[in-house]
Amino acid sequence: MRPTGALHLGHYHGVLRNWVALTRDHECLYFVADWHALTTRLDRPEEIAHHTREMVIDWIASGLDPERATLFVQSRVRAHAELHLLLSMIVPVGWLERVPSYKDLRQTAAAEDTLSYGFLGYPVLMSADVLLYRAAGVPVGEDQVAHLELTREIARRFNDLYGRGPAFAADLERVLGGLASDVRRAYDEALRAYRERGEEKALADLEQRLAGVSGLGADERDLLLAAARGTGRALLREPRPLLTATPRLPGLDGRKMSKSYGNTITLRDEPPVVWEKLRTMVTDPARVRRSDPGDPEKCPVWAWHLVYSDEETRSWVDRGCRSAGIGCLDCKKRLLEPILRDLEPIRERACRLAEHPERVEEILEDGSARARAWARPALEIVRERLGLAHGEQD
Ligand code: SF4
Repeated sequence: MRPTGALHLGHYHGVLRNWVALTRDHECLYFVADWHALTTRLDRPEEIAHHTREMVIDWIASGLDPERATLFVQSRVRAHAELHLLLSMIVPVGWLERVPSYKDLRQTAAAEDTLSYGFLGYPVLMSADVLLYRAAGVPVGEDQVAHLELTREIARRFNDLYGRGPAFAADLERVLGGLASDVRRAYDEALRAYRERGEEKALADLEQRLAGVSGLGADERDLLLAAARGTGRALLREPRPLLTATPRLPGLDGRKMSKSYGNTITLRDEPPVVWEKLRTMVTDPARVRRSDPGDPEKCPVWAWHLVYSDEETRSWVDRGCRSAGIGCLDCKKRLLEPILRDLEPIRERACRLAEHPERVEEILEDGSARARAWARPALEIVRERLGLAHGEQD
């Protein structure tokens, strides 16, 4: 996440709750993308450190436990920069020019100044961010799936270019020799089905079968699958998008909730501020007077009820809105309590933590050290394959 400072309800429901949930079953790393912030926010670099701290306070206050997840700052793990540089050597410029955000910005004449070399290359940095940790999955929204596909393409290209050679054949021989006869048979059958009849499903089934073979490590599985596909060894792991349906809370003006639109309720807003914002939130434009019937589907407040209200309240809103039996203020008042119930513990935790910036610093230092250790093996593999192996680590 880019360091944007204090977070809002849109972040909480759209991202943070999912992040917290993922830490229950997965080893997770979350980082402050401060280098990414520089690709578009060169004008106010002095804000980055402050925004980083405030944002991480809100992460933790929202339930992200630094003991269960590694929280760190991108610029404190220089391996991101090195892998970015190395990968940039194998990424055709055309791939980057096709990225939608770059195409969009190019079409805006006023944005000429922001079209930097760094901005063009930021999807490569993003790929390095993920590939460095051999991540199995990345929690993304639908709009970021294309970015992740680029990461997968970059990994494939690297694996194709550098994942073959004599060691590949020798390792494959060794792993095949160690398979039980029934697994070996299944492997050969899948290979035939894929190569001779083009059955993609055979590979998917094989992947599943291999996942259940005890004693077969992840690297060995990757090797067998790479050989079956006819690609190089999976030196860099292709990450999958973790698409979770998260609720989208529109902003107070009905547009996407965003700090730059000034249409947010932040996680640390005091109750009177929350009510004042909610009270003035836009509604169905057809309800000019209290006696005008409305349509919840055309009202951003309804989207909030879908997140915060139970069935009974929702049907009360639906009936009351369509029949003009309730006013918009009555409708909004029903939201206030559940919103404040969500926010109160977050605000309290955030305020306590904000009084101890040294604790936040400690968490980020510790997390960054852990991330450096995580990043080392992948970077060493890449260096070694590019003939750059040397002793220096960080
Ligand atoms: S009653 Fe509720 S759902 Fe209907 S327009 Fe007013 S705020 Fe929106």
